[in-house]
Amino acid sequence: MFITSHANGLIVFQSSLLKDQSPLKHAFSSRKGGVSPAPFESLNLGPDVGDDAENVPENRRRFLQILDAGVDRLAMGEQVHGNHVEIVSQPGLYPATDGLITARRGIVLAVKIADCVPLLFFDPVKTVLAVVHAGWRGVIYGIIPAAVQSMIDEFFVRPENLLCAIGPSIRSCCYEIQRDVADRFDDDAIIRRDGKLFLDLIHVIKKHLELLGLKPDNVDISEYCTHCQGELFFSYRRDGIHSGRMMLAAGLK
Ligand SMILES: [Zn+2]
Repeated sequence: MFITSHANGLIVFQSSLLKDQSPLKHAFSSRKGGVSPAPFESLNLGPDVGDDAENVPENRRRFLQILDAGVDRLAMGEQVHGNHVEIVSQPGLYPATDGLITARRGIVLAVKIADCVPLLFFDPVKTVLAVVHAGWRGVIYGIIPAAVQSMIDEFFVRPENLLCAIGPSIRSCCYEIQRDVADRFDDDAIIRRDGKLFLDLIHVIKKHLELLGLKPDNVDISEYCTHCQGELFFSYRRDGIHSGRMMLAAGLK
């Protein structure tokens, strides 16, 4: 279950599965509580979308206060819808990376989203976390098994101990796709409605996680669709190139 919190004028979401897993701190942002004007109103956390360059650092500062962390602690990937996962021991921007893992305290891992799926993994036994940015391409290219396998290989994580939170993203109510994309997924991931095709990417991700050995009870999925809920979320599909970006941020305090 996801809990909605109002803090410092922001609206953020946290998984009840992970909220009290000290020393982990995490939050999924909404578009509420920032300084950016339309069409980026107001908590745009993406620097490359056309928003005033001064707004984004202030928005990030406000959001990261929830984690009691500064902007200089951020470690992010240059998201390319690929399957590369980086083990991170210092802040910075990691090229061509869609998944980040760390066991080091004082670093905040983050992914930017505006419809794609943000995933947070945490192993309370080994005290290691990962964040993943997964759109349909990333899922096809195997970003989710790549992230979990890296946690297993590098940190001796046992999948049955892993907790996973899946944040707001575009859902099957709105995720219309064309035949060429549908053909790349199993039929049970495709919903047919009014002569159109819709992708249930969460269904695919849940299957991946189960195959990897995660317990279904250890997977917490936000009910929100970013495309439906324009008041709360940016959506690239809905808003086009003038869409702001939300963030999943997580770190060990
Ligand atoms: Zn929707």
